[in-house]
Amino acid sequence: MAIRILSAELAARIAAGEVIERPASVVKELIENSLDAGARQVVVDVQGGGLTLIQVSDDGCGIAPEELPLAVQRHATSKIADPADLNRIATLGFRGEALASIVAAADLEVVSRPHDSLVAASLKVVDGAIVHQGSRGAPPGTTVTVRHLFRRQPARLKFLRSKAVESSHLTALLNAYALAYPEVRFRLRIDGRTVLQTSGQGDLREAAAEVHGAAVASASLMVVADADASGIAVRGLLSPPHVSRASRSEIHIFVNRRWVQSRSLTFAIEEAYQGLLTVGRHPIAALTVTLPVADVDVNVHPSKAEVRFRDERAVFAAVQRAVRQTLMTAAPIPALSVVGGEKSLAEIEVQPVSMPDRLARPPAVQPATAKSTAGPSQPAFVARMPVLRPVGQVASTYIIAEGPDGMYLIDQHAAHERVLYEQVRAARQHQAVETQGLLEPVTVDLSPAQAMRLRDEEAALAPFGFDIELFGDRTWLLRAVPAVLAGRDPAAGLREFLDLLERPDSPRERDDRIAATIACHAAVRAGKVLSQEEMRELVQLLETTEMPHTCPHGRPTMIHLSQATLEREFRRR
Ligand code: ADP
Ligand code: MG
Repeated sequence: MAIRILSAELAARIAAGEVIERPASVVKELIENSLDAGARQVVVDVQGGGLTLIQVSDDGCGIAPEELPLAVQRHATSKIADPADLNRIATLGFRGEALASIVAAADLEVVSRPHDSLVAASLKVVDGAIVHQGSRGAPPGTTVTVRHLFRRQPARLKFLRSKAVESSHLTALLNAYALAYPEVRFRLRIDGRTVLQTSGQGDLREAAAEVHGAAVASASLMVVADADASGIAVRGLLSPPHVSRASRSEIHIFVNRRWVQSRSLTFAIEEAYQGLLTVGRHPIAALTVTLPVADVDVNVHPSKAEVRFRDERAVFAAVQRAVRQTLMTAAPIPALSVVGGEKSLAEIEVQPVSMPDRLARPPAVQPATAKSTAGPSQPAFVARMPVLRPVGQVASTYIIAEGPDGMYLIDQHAAHERVLYEQVRAARQHQAVETQGLLEPVTVDLSPAQAMRLRDEEAALAPFGFDIELFGDRTWLLRAVPAVLAGRDPAAGLREFLDLLERPDSPRERDDRIAATIACHAAVRAGKVLSQEEMRELVQLLETTEMPHTCPHGRPTMIHLSQATLEREFRRR
């Protein structure tokens, strides 16, 4: 389609925006133009944090020479023509504003050669005015060079952070696009140094290796969820629970291959990791959500960084389901491949245990301490944990169990923690926590740090069954505790509890951490002798949990010695 100026009516319906905030916004617009032009190779060069020079070269379709002056005008685009097009945008750009905004903020030169032209046309804009037009030899494709960004906007310059910060924004941007477009060869050079280079072979894991390193890439889990009833498909890559980050910055979401910021979908992903990661840790994710273009409005945000879904809940559910399913299917029970004393834990081979057709699920045991919860948790997915028969205990710490494929060693504390964690969380959610009133209120003297923490957390603790009242400066009165903690020394318990409670960064994380702390505190200790009946009950309870393979802190609850391994080790075959 030719570039043309949008009608005033259509231009008015476009969510206008100052798209150029920082060097990375220029690069984002230029990369998006390259991708819209069908480029298979995009090379980005940056100097001085992007303020001195930004150059983006592609091998895309190019711009016809006579259209070059039009391309840098406001509301000039080849991507939409009439208002109905706004409801079916399949390109990343559509407003015809990016080049015009860049020209308003910097000097720009475009050199472009369509594939059917023999030479490239060039256009140079300085201080907003075209100063040169010509032709020259160049390979097919487009190169846009941006110099002196914000030289004429000293106020903007002041708001920019250091060159290093701007460069890190640029790297993050290229990383994201490299993950969303593995079939495109990306290269980012900062001050002459190549910081990212992908092969463009179309292999997501390979692209991830360039972005996150080989170790993370090979451990990553592939998400493949084909279109559901609403036509929503989810694909991409996730970190396994043992790989995590301290921030959410490695969670990337693409909607119809557009990089978007979505709190709601980020939340959907994180929630699916519920209980697999320690509170405060975040997964690595690059997920592409594909849905009919008519079901998503991309014309809502100035820099097109946010989108609106016709059915937000359906998209949320599809993402959460895809992530959950991937984690469930992949979450491995660490398998002990060799027993001989020589192998360290780190060398233990990890294999996923898959049990497509599980046998009868044992009747779910009602939690003894939280009777009023929503009842046994419903299995949402099959084959999460094989049915196990406990045969004994080792070192009063591990339960030995027999399963359909060999032997399992279960860490009794970790397993019980998992069970209690899910029970406590469910009870909290349904406001059905059982409280144990103390016959005599107990006074608890706290350290200044503990007292401060308790002041912060007091309101959050009440729904979990704590009844605490400030009594003196650092003295509190404890009147009731969660029933799961009954029988423990309440004062010592509270102090220890406050020490365990690190400061989380959201109310939900705080609740999860409180639940995990209660579970940790209430769970049966390593070193406690269990009766056959107790072991059986614990294993059955573990089977009813949603995430039986890890404790709330992400440690394994069990390891597996397969039938094949046993036979090999005893040289039976
Ligand atoms: P938009 O992308 O919203 O259409 P831009 O200002 O970014 O607006 O670009 C204006 C037009 O210039 C585009 O519609 C496209 O036709 C053309 N164009 C810009 N960059 C490229 C490129 N790298 N390759 C081919 N055409 C381009
Ligand atoms: Mg554009």
